[in-house]
Amino acid sequence: MSILVYTETENGKFKKASFEAASYAKGVAEKMGTDVTAVAFNAEDIKALGDYGVAKVLHIQNDKLKTFNAEAYADAIAQAAQEAGAEVVVLGQTANDKYLAPLLAVQLEAGYASNVVELPETENGFTVKRSVFTNKAFNHTAITTDKKIIGVSKNAYGLKENSAAAEESSFSPNLKEEDFNIEVASVDKATDKVTIADAEVVVSGGRGLKGPENWNLVEDLADVLGAATACSKPVSDMGWRPHSEHVGQTGKPVASNLYIAIGISGAIQHLAGVSASKTKVVINNDPEAPFFKAADYGIVGDAFEVVPKLTEKLKEF
Ligand code: FAD
Repeated sequence: MSILVYTETENGKFKKASFEAASYAKGVAEKMGTDVTAVAFNAEDIKALGDYGVAKVLHIQNDKLKTFNAEAYADAIAQAAQEAGAEVVVLGQTANDKYLAPLLAVQLEAGYASNVVELPETENGFTVKRSVFTNKAFNHTAITTDKKIIGVSKNAYGLKENSAAAEESSFSPNLKEEDFNIEVASVDKATDKVTIADAEVVVSGGRGLKGPENWNLVEDLADVLGAATACSKPVSDMGWRPHSEHVGQTGKPVASNLYIAIGISGAIQHLAGVSASKTKVVINNDPEAPFFKAADYGIVGDAFEVVPKLTEKLKEF
């Protein structure tokens, strides 16, 4: 018996979500008295997984799997799970992970729990704590199938360094022709900017910025911090910013390490989508703005004065 973790890569490099999933898998393995095996596709730095407790890596090197293909990946990961004798399969909650997990659950006849935030209780069965209703509540879900799949919420368990060998072993799954019925032929990146989903830092602007002509405030601060840019719903509704930047309950969820909200009031629908961020900083000229109650740090002041000063100061570091 072992724990298998699927470790996603982008252009050969492991995503942070993969290291978080590996850290979590190691936590589960310690509880269950076993080791962690990872499965990775066309990865460059296999040894990096050892820093997060992975003992063995089943490395699939196959040119046909250089771009993500859910059916083929699910098939390959299911075979890796058999190879590793895995009772538990752990993955993150990236868009690709969310696509893969149900396919994998069908293949392995496994119960799948998404948005898991803590290690499982294993004393009486196998129960996981999950975030539900965009982090407004938690439920405890018992997985009763023999095989279990866990999707770990971003930033919930975090990175835990835990040195292990990450011994590499080449793995060649038997893939079916049907796995390639649908294939991504090519990918055109719309932008080279950091995406909201992958960003460690997100700088977000709201209606308090008055108009799209003032977005240089957000962009300059984001540039200094290597951050992604985001906005509140009305801002994208008014066409000041693209809809891809709208965050919140009806937009993209944000689970960055740092979320800086400029001129955003902190309506419940906005907070619902950003509450998983570790540290929230608010800049608003109204001390009564609801966002201050949810923030870790707040600056009461005019964004047009505060933000340029903050950006200039940060350039010194
Ligand atoms: P406002 O509420 O207008 O706030 C602007 C803020 O800027 C104020 O707090 C003001 O004090 C401050 N300000 C003004 N001037 C300055 C200045 N010079 N310097 C500093 N601060 C200044 N919203 C989302 O964001 N995401 C969602 O996913 C979302 N989903 C929704 C779903 C539903 C079903 C509904 C009904 C609403 C949803 N909303 C969502 C809208 C939400 O309710 C709020 O209306 C919206 O978040 C407000 O956006 P805002 O904070 O940018 O604007």
